[in-house]
Amino acid sequence: MLPRSDRPCHQPMTPTASRVRDVIIVGSGPAGYTAAIYTARAGLDTLVIEGHEPGGALIAAGPIDNYPGVGPFVSGPALAEAMRRQAQRFGAELCSGHVERFDVRDKPKTVGTSDDQHHGRALILAMGSAPRSLNVPGERGLHGVSTSAKRDGARFTGRDVAVIGGGDGAVEEALYLAPLARHVTLIHQRPRLRASAIAVARLQDHPNVTIRTSTEVLALHGNRRVSGVRVRSRRHAGDSTIAVAAVFVAVGQIPRSDLLIGHVDLDAGGHILTKGGTTRTSAEGVFAAGDLIDRRYRQAVTAAASGCAAALDAERWLSRPHSPLLDSIAREGKIPQDPVATHHRGRCLVHRIG
Ligand SMILES: Cc1cc2nc3c(=O)[nH]c(=O)nc-3n(C[C@H](O)[C@H](O)[C@H](O)COP(=O)(O)OP(=O)(O)OC[C@H]3O[C@@H](n4cnc5c(N)ncnc54)[C@H](O)[C@@H]3O)c2cc1C
Repeated sequence: MLPRSDRPCHQPMTPTASRVRDVIIVGSGPAGYTAAIYTARAGLDTLVIEGHEPGGALIAAGPIDNYPGVGPFVSGPALAEAMRRQAQRFGAELCSGHVERFDVRDKPKTVGTSDDQHHGRALILAMGSAPRSLNVPGERGLHGVSTSAKRDGARFTGRDVAVIGGGDGAVEEALYLAPLARHVTLIHQRPRLRASAIAVARLQDHPNVTIRTSTEVLALHGNRRVSGVRVRSRRHAGDSTIAVAAVFVAVGQIPRSDLLIGHVDLDAGGHILTKGGTTRTSAEGVFAAGDLIDRRYRQAVTAAASGCAAALDAERWLSRPHSPLLDSIAREGKIPQDPVATHHRGRCLVHRIG
């Protein structure tokens, strides 16, 4: 876990707690930090509310070997920390609260944490997604149930383990575990795995991997520690228990959008809908990025790219004539002759984009 921001959200911030930020970014994974790097670097007054998991999913990701430019690999937490420092270096302010309320139709927009509220002219939502749970008895409270092989797999070197799921994420988990574990059982409820044929073929090359399709998980067994997975095959009568020391659950991700129901348009799976190939949401001045809008790729680099896009979209939106930002500059008597060359607070504020 990254060290929490030493600035809790409820601490009065200079000049006042009710200061209106140019941009508030909710979430501190690659999407949120990248958005902050861009908006703060553009001179926009940027607040990042980091949530319960500063650094986001990268903290659980273990070694990352596919993020460009940091090879041969970098640990997820180290990558998150580098992004965070870069955002801070450009002047983004970070605070450690967790947003519980959104008022996205207000001008300015308001987000509420447990003990404070913050106002921003534009809002970037980057709350990511959470692992979907199996919802079976024993899943909670037993040691050895994990959602990250890269983080926890090494603890089960030489042991028998199970991976639950049938998509690319599950096969990736099994591929990571195969060289470590004595035996890996991949359990999927459907007749066929959904993962790419190439990944499945790579997995089938491992002699210590068994793939059990059409198999439903009924419960996880154990006394404090996992000792087995109770399963029901749709092909053979009768239930059975597979003895394992750990279970890696990889049955998908759920976008963290509950609090936004009724505020912005979502698809049936809870992803925030964005418009016309941009990061604009159905609410004016509200942008969304990362796994929260991504049904398909969900990688650190794609989240970072969409954080960048959200920042550029927000910047462009704030640069339009009569935007909340330019109106406020006008009220301060600093109306620019040429909005694209505006200088504000001593820094270049508005860039011409596109
Ligand atoms: C186990 C694992 C391994 C992975 N391995 C790789 C890999 O090898 N390579 C790769 O490219 N990708 C990998 N990924 C995927 C990658 O980590 C994610 O795609 C990426 O982190 C998504 O970024 P994000 O910024 O959209 O969301 P997240 O990283 O999920 O960050 C979301 C942020 O939002 C915050 N938040 C949530 N709700 C609130 C709220 N209400 N108020 C305030 N803050 C809030 C959280 O605290 C968190 O900081 C892995 C993911 C996992 C789980």
